[in-house]
Amino acid sequence: MSKTFPYAYIRKKICRVEEAVIPIQAKVVQYGLGFFGGIRGHYNKKQKKLHLFRLKDHYDRLAESAKIMHMKMPISSYKKFEELIFELIKKNKITEDIYMRPCIYAGTTKLSPHFIDCEEDLAIYFISLKNYFKSDGGLNVCISSWRRFEDDVLSAKAKMTAAYANSALAKTEAMMNGFDEAIFLNRDGNVCEATGANIFGIKNGVVYTPPLHANNLNGITRRTVIELFKNQMGLVVKEEEFDRSQTYTFDELFFTGTAAKVSWIQKVDHRKIGSGTEGKYTLKLKEQLEEITVGENTKYNHWLTSIG
Ligand code: PMP
Repeated sequence: MSKTFPYAYIRKKICRVEEAVIPIQAKVVQYGLGFFGGIRGHYNKKQKKLHLFRLKDHYDRLAESAKIMHMKMPISSYKKFEELIFELIKKNKITEDIYMRPCIYAGTTKLSPHFIDCEEDLAIYFISLKNYFKSDGGLNVCISSWRRFEDDVLSAKAKMTAAYANSALAKTEAMMNGFDEAIFLNRDGNVCEATGANIFGIKNGVVYTPPLHANNLNGITRRTVIELFKNQMGLVVKEEEFDRSQTYTFDELFFTGTAAKVSWIQKVDHRKIGSGTEGKYTLKLKEQLEEITVGENTKYNHWLTSIG
């Protein structure tokens, strides 16, 4: 179980997390009008420092979501955002790994579903998240019967609250059928992502991941993994579409995400991926990412915002 830290932020004030509540009439409650981010911080006991991973990139993606959705950012700059996060971390006396959720929501209690004058507000809370998936020994996943929405239906580029109803339908179906997670196909029948993570496959030492126009989130872990495969491991990375059958025949397959980290997939639709064990590139990638996120690889310290 994840622990929730006692102090949250809402309506421009720090308060107890139980008090950070939203009225039932608010458009975010009624229609899911809002967007959010998920950011990890890794505590390095030796250094006595908390390292937030790619905080600025997360802020920039929040700003992009705001633009797509015609909402205003209720905080004036990245600097102010960073100061606020620092203040909240101090207030919560955090000296362990954390996962934080900044959410920008439509607070207005007016009735109709639109983004005009929607009284945007920023809310933030913190939990201590270890593993996102229950199984750490290789995931058993399925291709969902639910399709991912196309970009002319909803934007997968904005981390829109309402869009997670699509994720919830797919994840529920997967769980009820005994799987850990679902993979979405888009309307063309190509793989786009999971319900809360991007996807990568490796075949004969070449790395494949669906391109951004395949209706997936522009994942910050996805960008990180592409960079590490290319520049740390010297592999070829192809951002190109692949279909269901190709998915079954990869040597290695894994999800990436802030919460999911790098999570290897053992089976898709009851078909073993590769030899059914964690692949060598996946293992190497996890090792490198771990080193970077805890602040033990100075080459990538520019991805860290460190407190302590
Ligand atoms: N796709 C979806 C639908 C997600 O919810 C997430 C988690 N934020 C991701 C991909 C991975 O994105 P990131 O690496 O930025 O966490």
